[in-house]
Amino acid sequence: MKISCDVARDLLPLYHDAVCSSGSKQLLEEHLADCDSCKLVLERIRDNTIDDRIKYEREEVVGHHTKTVKRKSFITGVSIASVLAVPILVCLIVNLAVGRALDWFFIVLTSLMTLASVTVVPLVRERKKGLWTLGGFTGSLILLLMTCAIYTGGDWFFVAVIPILFGLCILFAPYVLSQSRLTGIASRHKGLIAMALDTLLLFAVIIASGLYTGADILADWHLGILTALVSLILPWGLFLIIRYVKANTFLRAGLSVIFSGFFLSYGLGLIDWILEGTVPYRFSGANLFVWNDATINPNIFLLALLSGLIVGGIFILVGVLRKKKG
Ligand SMILES: [Zn+2]
Repeated sequence: MKISCDVARDLLPLYHDAVCSSGSKQLLEEHLADCDSCKLVLERIRDNTIDDRIKYEREEVVGHHTKTVKRKSFITGVSIASVLAVPILVCLIVNLAVGRALDWFFIVLTSLMTLASVTVVPLVRERKKGLWTLGGFTGSLILLLMTCAIYTGGDWFFVAVIPILFGLCILFAPYVLSQSRLTGIASRHKGLIAMALDTLLLFAVIIASGLYTGADILADWHLGILTALVSLILPWGLFLIIRYVKANTFLRAGLSVIFSGFFLSYGLGLIDWILEGTVPYRFSGANLFVWNDATINPNIFLLALLSGLIVGGIFILVGVLRKKKG
């Protein structure tokens, strides 16, 4: 008795799993001896099964390994936390025994919290380690400074904390924003948000320093704010060109270089205007063949402008050619 390909294919999975009757097995083997296409189907069933098995085992091994690593790092984190708890407990007792009130204990506590934020937190957190570590570190550092300021009766808290926040913001705001799920218009302008935060904190630093040093607001440190405003033209200009000008990379690079050239030659004149009330002609006395005290500044301004125009011009030329090409 012969069987058709349809019947053979119905039997193949059973045959592969070795669960069909000996009669069916014999019939199928007779059919397979003559039919190459059914033989091919059987080979495919075998291959797929092996692939599935390998995939399954790989996932099993990786999953097990990840679990082990997670458990080990959690145990390490908890151990570090317990080690840190010992000096906290000792200081609590000593501080109470000696001073009958808690004062410097809080400095020890917040210092060890800062230490824990960069050691314990990344070990015990499973998700968003970076954000939790950064948040914990910033929070405990601010608490530490606040405790020290209160303990020493210092008025330096803001002038210490704001520059620290400014530095952390420059370094980590792009990371924090890239990790956070913003919605709507904000999700498309994360760079702009980071730049705005940096700018606000820069002015907060200037204002905090001005207040701390007791500078005469009108006479002195508005100069700081105006000078900062002029200096910010360069980073903001470059950011807006790179992020928002809709053109190819070469065109944007060209625009950036030309803009930098103009800023470093003409733009810095605004600072002279703020500080001295006059804007000197930037290039008066410039002579690129003579370099002395009288020519060095105008020469540098001239070079900044010329190199900006030449290098930027080349980039723009390449950009235009590439745009035409495709
Ligand atoms: Zn067949």
